[in-house]
Amino acid sequence: MPLDLVTIPCRQDNYAYLIHDPQSGATALIDAPEAAPILAALSVRGWQLGQIFITHHHTDHVEGVAELRAATGAQVSGAAADAHRLPPLDRTLVPGDSVTVGAESGSVLDMPGHTIGHIAFHFAAAQLLFTADSLMALGCGRLFEGTAEQMWRALGTLDALPDTTLVCSGHEYTQSNARFALTIEPGNTALHARAARIAEARAKDMPTVPSLLGLERATNPFLRAHLPHVKSSLGLPNASDVESFAELRQRKDRF
Ligand code: ZN
Ligand code: FE
Repeated sequence: MPLDLVTIPCRQDNYAYLIHDPQSGATALIDAPEAAPILAALSVRGWQLGQIFITHHHTDHVEGVAELRAATGAQVSGAAADAHRLPPLDRTLVPGDSVTVGAESGSVLDMPGHTIGHIAFHFAAAQLLFTADSLMALGCGRLFEGTAEQMWRALGTLDALPDTTLVCSGHEYTQSNARFALTIEPGNTALHARAARIAEARAKDMPTVPSLLGLERATNPFLRAHLPHVKSSLGLPNASDVESFAELRQRKDRF
């Protein structure tokens, strides 16, 4: 991996991520739930924060931005579509834009659903995908603003990415997600094995993120809504893929 990655637990159950290019020393942060643990993570490594990339406007992803900017002088980038409800931005991003951290470049992906302006960051060479509250470990974000169709389509754009991509998502919801996933696919052996590893990690208070995209494809029901046995499990054998995804999301909301 040409970029160093640090996972930083924040608040109750949020994650922020630092990426660092050892050659140039360039360091960027993805999401700023709160400043203190991020400043601590920078300081123990002697890293200088140059950039903050924001995935979406929710408080638990941006509340630390002002303090981090003041403390480090980092440049802040976020979706142009959400500029009116994000902290002040030095750079506005639209899907398809590139961001750079040292020699590594990442592309901005449109991930509407949880919010309309939600974006993800994909560093292809480093195989790092920062999804926050779009694709999550064994789950996906709630549909606060977008439709099931928007999120299903957005998740579908990740189909082209390799199994070895590391999915860096925004919350520690994985254990509850696993319990839900098992109600949908009780016969999925990869899911059972993953649920056991998740329980072990959580018993030791270890993060269950990041996760490999290949494992998400094999176990995350929200990437599997199109499969006939998943539709049947929902009692909707003739549903469209979007209808199946929408039903999964609604059931998870009630779970
Ligand atoms: Zn959110
Ligand atoms: Fe969140």
